[in-house]
Amino acid sequence: MSGFREEPGLRQPVWLNPLNLIRVMPAKEREFRLSQSRVIVVGAGIAGLACALELEERGLQVEVIDRGRRLGEGSCSWMAGGMLAPWCERATTEPEVAAWGAPSIAWWTERFPETVLNGSLVVAQSRDAPDLARFAARTERFEWVDGDRIAVLEPDLAGRFRRALFFADEAHLDPRRALAALAGNLEALGVAIRFGVELAPQEAQADIVVDCRGLAARDCLPDLRGVRGEMVVVRSPDVSLRRPVRMLHPRLPLYIVPRGNGLFMIGATMIESEHRGPVSVRSAVELLNAAYALHPAFGEAEIVELGADVRPAFPDNLPQLRQSGRVLHANGLFRHGFLLAPALAQRTTDAVLSMFSSATLSPESNHADLPQRRRA
Ligand SMILES: Cc1cc2nc3c(=O)[nH]c(=O)nc-3n(C[C@H](O)[C@H](O)[C@H](O)COP(=O)(O)OP(=O)(O)OC[C@H]3O[C@@H](n4cnc5c(N)ncnc54)[C@H](O)[C@@H]3O)c2cc1C
Repeated sequence: MSGFREEPGLRQPVWLNPLNLIRVMPAKEREFRLSQSRVIVVGAGIAGLACALELEERGLQVEVIDRGRRLGEGSCSWMAGGMLAPWCERATTEPEVAAWGAPSIAWWTERFPETVLNGSLVVAQSRDAPDLARFAARTERFEWVDGDRIAVLEPDLAGRFRRALFFADEAHLDPRRALAALAGNLEALGVAIRFGVELAPQEAQADIVVDCRGLAARDCLPDLRGVRGEMVVVRSPDVSLRRPVRMLHPRLPLYIVPRGNGLFMIGATMIESEHRGPVSVRSAVELLNAAYALHPAFGEAEIVELGADVRPAFPDNLPQLRQSGRVLHANGLFRHGFLLAPALAQRTTDAVLSMFSSATLSPESNHADLPQRRRA
């Protein structure tokens, strides 16, 4: 058995490929089986919504439940920066993140036309210039740009940095608007999202349950851990940026994502802690300092929001899909929720179709982790 962690090029294992399912099943039977297939997705964060949409688009009957009273409440996804930056991430993560994340940009533009395709820029203060070179050495798909080019790309940064890395093929989105758009797409397809319902996946009345509870799924996934992230949203009418700007720093690398209408999200801390409480003074100071260092006009910005949540992560910080009887656990998106949710959703849907096509639906049948993963 093979699966999610195949590389390069994310080849699908034959037995998970829904096209094979379609080939072996007579059309009438297939229609019947798909229309009778009831799948419940538990959790309406980015993992749950992306899975539900992918499942529905591929002909399955889906319902989504979430314990929050409304979209985003209690969801880590609500706090995300929304960078779709596979090659920037490549500098500090396993190669799978770029390989699985790069195709997500097309997935997003198809389903969320507000996705912004302006690339991203990586800068460093002169004293941290070696960090820029080290970052460049660990990734690809960028060009070195000088001060003149920086001024063309981001006029408000003119004269502030001598060199930068420009990743033209990257994108970003507003995560809250993106979540709302996915929920809207689901609603348009007739999928009910029931809020205020808390359920253990094993209790759900459905043929197959897709568990997308984020960190709350630790009761079933003991090796899942939390990595706290803090962020600040500011309003600064005096600064304009067209794309996310990352600022390298030996201790606290940070980014600023433009949200439009003078709003900017500044993120994010990475703390090995599952504490979901308010942003600490230290983190707020560091995040705001970084913005000020990027452009002094941020000194006059208004603080609109301080937020924190805990990212769900497996030990190697890569997502996993695991099967236990009729429950599929789709989790571990770590700091790549929006970047990797499309890949996770596609693999989840492949697995669901495969389960319907075979005799694996008996709750007694406990299968090995799905997919099986090469350990780092
Ligand atoms: C500050 C910060 C910045 C980030 N920036 C980025 C970024 O720029 N790009 C990026 O791609 N990722 C980013 N991330 C990471 C991203 O937010 C996470 O990877 C992602 O949100 C995880 O999504 P999820 O759907 O698995 O979990 P969640 O979003 O937490 O969703 C889980 C859902 O399950 C529901 N739930 C839990 N238990 C139950 C139950 N028993 N019954 C019913 N419902 C239940 C919860 O209410 C919740 O809505 C960032 C994270 C943080 C904190």
